[in-house]
Amino acid sequence: MTASERIDAARERLGERLAILGHHYQTDAIIRHTDARGDSLELARSLPGAPVEHIVFCGVFFMAESAAVLAQPGQKVHIPDLQASCVMADTAPAGLVAAVLERLNESGRKIVPLAYVNSSVAVKAVVGRHGGSVCTSANAPAMLRWALDQGDGVLFLPDKNLARNTARELGLSASEIEVLDVREGGANIRTEDFAGTRLFCWPGVCSVHHRFKPEHIRRVRAEVPDVRIVVHPESHPDVVQASDAAGSTSFIIKYCREAPAGANICVGTEVNLVHRLAKEFAPGKRIFPLLESECANMAKITEEKLADTLEGLDDAEPVRVPLELAEPSRLALERMLQACA
Ligand code: SF4
Repeated sequence: MTASERIDAARERLGERLAILGHHYQTDAIIRHTDARGDSLELARSLPGAPVEHIVFCGVFFMAESAAVLAQPGQKVHIPDLQASCVMADTAPAGLVAAVLERLNESGRKIVPLAYVNSSVAVKAVVGRHGGSVCTSANAPAMLRWALDQGDGVLFLPDKNLARNTARELGLSASEIEVLDVREGGANIRTEDFAGTRLFCWPGVCSVHHRFKPEHIRRVRAEVPDVRIVVHPESHPDVVQASDAAGSTSFIIKYCREAPAGANICVGTEVNLVHRLAKEFAPGKRIFPLLESECANMAKITEEKLADTLEGLDDAEPVRVPLELAEPSRLALERMLQACA
């Protein structure tokens, strides 16, 4: 049997006990087996209710963890490859985040942490315990405004590009923004240098979106004069500035959908999503990637691993989140839901 046939057979056997969720950046080979697809928060929010017992999350680990926090009692969340991590999230281990936050607060100013949803549950728990919250790329401006109102400054993590793009949108000046040196457990941070700083950016980046450069934009404009270029705000601020539009995954999908027939649209985001959009909107619109930039961790989820996971589900150890992390991370998430209600 092929891996695809094994998946079909397992789905047949598990019936309504199973739901498979797939992130937009998964390959078509995976997406065709999913019950729902979306970005990380959409998927975590769309968790099915009873009688689904097993939720298999095709994405990276922090997403499965967030799903496990939001799952109902009795539901088990699984991921086909536990090694599918996120290089951006990995730049911000919880212990280091707590140490840096402590260092920033030594000045006596109240620095409020704001964690991008692309972070571990342990980080969201640190944020929850320190009065902070969580944001997505779609609500980052509203949440940054909220966080700035809660204290004297904000620690935004882990993506420095999303932080700077959002700050620019809110009108913060360059002198109010600082990218931190978090080496040596934060010992290099000299708080006395940051009297006028309102936004402290963690130095993480996304390996997919940080690859885009202004010269890629220039080359596309030279080759396709009437092109519209839309990029994800995890791209460098110079790339966002040079584009026609920037926004979250759902914004990019909407942008492609609403573009007029005959449009040439160049998309700067993960290439599996771009190729799927190209197929979905062909032949009326031409959609193509700014660069063939694939997430190596998302690509760790293969049909073979999905088949193995489904066949072993009843004996598998699900993703577990300790109670001491689940409660404060849920608090951070609830603050976001309230602020954006
Ligand atoms: S696309 Fe970027 S943010 Fe998303 S999982 Fe890959 S490295 Fe992390």
